[in-house]
Amino acid sequence: MSQKNSWDVVVVGGGVSGCMAAFAAAKQGADTLIIERYGFLGGALTNSGVGPMMTFHAGARQVVTGLPQELVDRLSDKNASVGHIEDTISYASSVTPFDAEVLKLVLDEMALDYGVDVLFHATLSGVRRTGDSISSITVQTRSGALEIQGKIFIDATGDAALSFEAGADVRIGRSSDGLCQPMTANMKVAGVDIKRLKDEIRNNPENFNVKDLSSLDRSPKLSVAGFVREFNRAKKDGKITTEREDVLLFETVNPGEVILNTTRVIRLSPVEPWDLSKAEYEGRRQAFEIINFLRSSCAGFENAVLLSTGVQIGVRESRRVVGDYVLTADDLLKSVKFTDSIALGGYPIDIHNPTGAETATTHLKPGQFYYIPFRSITVKGFSNLMVCGRCISTTHEAGAAIRVTPIVMAIGQAAGVAAGICSVSGIPVRALDYERLKESLTAINATFE
Ligand SMILES: Cc1cc2nc3c(=O)[nH]c(=O)nc-3n(C[C@H](O)[C@H](O)[C@H](O)COP(=O)(O)OP(=O)(O)OC[C@H]3O[C@@H](n4cnc5c(N)ncnc54)[C@H](O)[C@@H]3O)c2cc1C
Repeated sequence: MSQKNSWDVVVVGGGVSGCMAAFAAAKQGADTLIIERYGFLGGALTNSGVGPMMTFHAGARQVVTGLPQELVDRLSDKNASVGHIEDTISYASSVTPFDAEVLKLVLDEMALDYGVDVLFHATLSGVRRTGDSISSITVQTRSGALEIQGKIFIDATGDAALSFEAGADVRIGRSSDGLCQPMTANMKVAGVDIKRLKDEIRNNPENFNVKDLSSLDRSPKLSVAGFVREFNRAKKDGKITTEREDVLLFETVNPGEVILNTTRVIRLSPVEPWDLSKAEYEGRRQAFEIINFLRSSCAGFENAVLLSTGVQIGVRESRRVVGDYVLTADDLLKSVKFTDSIALGGYPIDIHNPTGAETATTHLKPGQFYYIPFRSITVKGFSNLMVCGRCISTTHEAGAAIRVTPIVMAIGQAAGVAAGICSVSGIPVRALDYERLKESLTAINATFE
């Protein structure tokens, strides 16, 4: 256990975005710390049962590279990922299934290999600010409060917890009423007869959303939304009370195991403590309704068991930081080419209805991708604070696209490179020369143009 109390770069939040930020900062020679409230890294992928990673591609082009790809390679080396494969729902350009337990281990190994310190079971509780700079933060540990100093801080908490605590301007939800996308208790379900499920899809294609049935033979793992008739009947009979229209599931790398992304908790705020508490038991209640429904009504699920729900309910959206630039849906859909681009993305704008059933998707054109500017990760009013992950500076709509794990990892690695350079050179984040950032991003094989 480190007795230090000062680092060059301090990353608060050990989700995949924060991890990539920390590894990238360390690669620039910065002494780096990750602070994480749970006892493992990976964020929503390991604490909320999210998967697969979706998507590293825009059409056939891989637009997320560098450290995020190294993560997938390390998972594949341990037979814990099948790499990037065809999405059988044709929703995203590719999907990347993985085993979440091995992901925890691989992230530990990467932290050790890159010399990044990790403080687990530490929750941010305070920020000391002098003018436009954060001088230290306080975290709550099993032994009380611990003060931690840093030259550059990165907010990778998903909820913008560090920025909010520091007094930065934040936004939440959609502009019309402040409501966020629904929370979902993802379910890991084992004992699914995948062959029987695929036969059911082939025999009743109108009941599922697989556009091209031959993809079931090509892709090694299944993604599907469906059982529409059964789901609607169960809703009518009062056996399902979830505000959704179908069952959405993704096969993992483990035989007979799927991730169900089907519960939906609406109209509650992920950052209001009593709302969040209510969301946890509502998500769990729905999960049991759904597993009972699947076992009794859905082919392939006759012997299925609910393995787990997450350590916490999945939060799609909460606070977003107001940065030097607010990225909009228009920027994404028009592929505005920012002169300070740091990362690319190819995922559609995917908004689960904050008030009920249905999901609104705005797809990009085939092969289209968008740019994410450096100014959307620098925090207005702060000289040594950056943000990465789903809480960067976007509108509700743009956030609904960039929030997926490959893209937040690409943003994280760029934030880490920038923080690493700034901390080692002793310069504020806005003084960073973009040409120098570009050079260092290129050196770690990141794609940003
Ligand atoms: C239900 C659901 C389904 C999804 N499906 C997919 C999918 O299929 N594919 C895909 O790619 N993406 C999916 N996403 C989106 C994706 O999972 C997230 O947007 C992404 O993981 C966000 O990454 P992050 O690193 O920004 O935040 P997170 O993964 O949330 O990580 C934040 C980390 O910070 C820690 N933290 C937070 N506050 C504090 C604090 N105060 N002190 C210390 N630590 C703190 C947390 O414990 C966590 O480890 C889904 C999301 C949800 C909720």
